[in-house]
Amino acid sequence: MSGKLYLVATPIGNLEDITLRALKILKEVDYIVAEDTRQTLKLLNHFEITKPMISYHRHSKDEKEKQIIDKLKQGKNIALVSDAGTPVISDPGEELVKSAIKENIQIISIPGACALIAALISSGIDAKEFTFLGFLPLNKKLRKEKLNEIENSTKTIILYEAPHKLQTTLNDLKETIKQRQIVLAREITKIHEEYISGTAEELLSKQQEPKGEYVIIIDKCNVNEKNNFELMSLEDHYKFYENLGYEKKEIIKQIAKDRKVKKDEIYKKFL
Ligand code: SAM
Repeated sequence: MSGKLYLVATPIGNLEDITLRALKILKEVDYIVAEDTRQTLKLLNHFEITKPMISYHRHSKDEKEKQIIDKLKQGKNIALVSDAGTPVISDPGEELVKSAIKENIQIISIPGACALIAALISSGIDAKEFTFLGFLPLNKKLRKEKLNEIENSTKTIILYEAPHKLQTTLNDLKETIKQRQIVLAREITKIHEEYISGTAEELLSKQQEPKGEYVIIIDKCNVNEKNNFELMSLEDHYKFYENLGYEKKEIIKQIAKDRKVKKDEIYKKFL
């Protein structure tokens, strides 16, 4: 019988955030697959866990994945961890999980710390609906597309960013979303944890030399403030929501709401 693949979340700073279940699984499995074995070794030493490790990172070759899948097929239980937080989330593991599912290997999630969730819940920004975009792409065209998405998003946006790229990203946001509220969640669970809010421009003046780790939380676009729909043609109004990825039914409902008319009236115009 095949072994199980455990996806184990580890702390994002404060080691006390490891869960009891994570510790139990790390002690019980046959192998720990780690993004950076030196980093994981520090965690294991702290909790006095000794276990054979296999390194698995962004540049790991298919052979490495095959080696892990073979071990699982031989009945070995394996825990996958990343350097910090939840594996797979802007971290390696997705391909391994997909391959394991194809091989009918049981996957078990051991949830715990995840920077995007920790940042969102403390930001004071609307947490009912949100879009996580991970790190913004460096490629100019792809980056522009993501910035457009942020500009028009009617949901809270969450980004990860490295400290040395924070200023560039805030400058791009300053051009794109000017007055929207942003919260920088810095060094979550660590000694210098703080939440700094303001527009991109205000944050640029507050964060002269960004240090540590940051999550960027961006307030949603208030479409009614941004657009005077009554001055728009019905077709442009329709296209506006279509570009946001809305389905026809939702678009008609939203147009009727924006224009304060009955849904049927709009529906007939698009028949
Ligand atoms: N898998 C991780 C998770 O579950 O959050 C994320 C890994 S990603 C490679 C690393 C990014 O997460 C950092 O660049 C930063 O944006 C964010 N991050 C991780 N730990 C953080 C912390 N303690 N405070 C703020 N942001 C953090």
